Amino acid sequence: MSGYYTIHDPLIERVMLTEDEIAETCERLGRRITEDYRGKELVLVSLLRGSLVFLADLCRHVQLDLKLDFMAISSYGSGEAVRIVKDLDEDIGGKHVLVVEDIVDTGLTLHYLLGVLAGRSPASLAVCALMDRRARRIADVPIAYRGLEIPDVFVVGYGIDLGGRYRNLPYVAVVRDEVMG
Ligand code: 5GP
Ligand code: MG
Repeated sequence: MSGYYTIHDPLIERVMLTEDEIAETCERLGRRITEDYRGKELVLVSLLRGSLVFLADLCRHVQLDLKLDFMAISSYGSGEAVRIVKDLDEDIGGKHVLVVEDIVDTGLTLHYLLGVLAGRSPASLAVCALMDRRARRIADVPIAYRGLEIPDVFVVGYGIDLGGRYRNLPYVAVVRDEVMG
């Protein structure tokens, strides 16, 4: 049962996005992306590891001939300095690149990534994010395909972790306040 993990885990407060809501969102975004990129050479760029589950569901709603590529970025703690831990395997020059993100918070990660990718001369560059938490935005990043806006609470599940755990939850859940301090 999908509810089991939540009910019995003391760190989790409640479900915020259900499996159904997430599935509808993937379908809606996938349909729009399919329409917008028809006839174009599309590469979906996923940021490891949090956006992996979203990418897997989203890409199956994009009915186009596309490629997937992966990148991993690490921050040096809480500052703005980020670095590439794993780079893309293929050249994106001349390709239409859509960055797939799990959640945009301060926007600093995406701001950095978009800067790096823009320097490689893609034909176009845009962002698709499952969740948008605007309350904490610092860098104003354009989100062409926005899934759901979420309030200022820490979430886990559906690819998103807390200390490496909870990525396999099929829904997005809110972590108890006491846990986050
Ligand atoms: P930003 O650079 O926009 O502040 O941070 C984006 C990244 O921070 C996300 O891709 C995600 O990995 C992480 N993040 C932001 N909010 C949350 C959250 O509520 N829970 C978890 N587990 N990670 C988050
Ligand atoms: Mg992420």
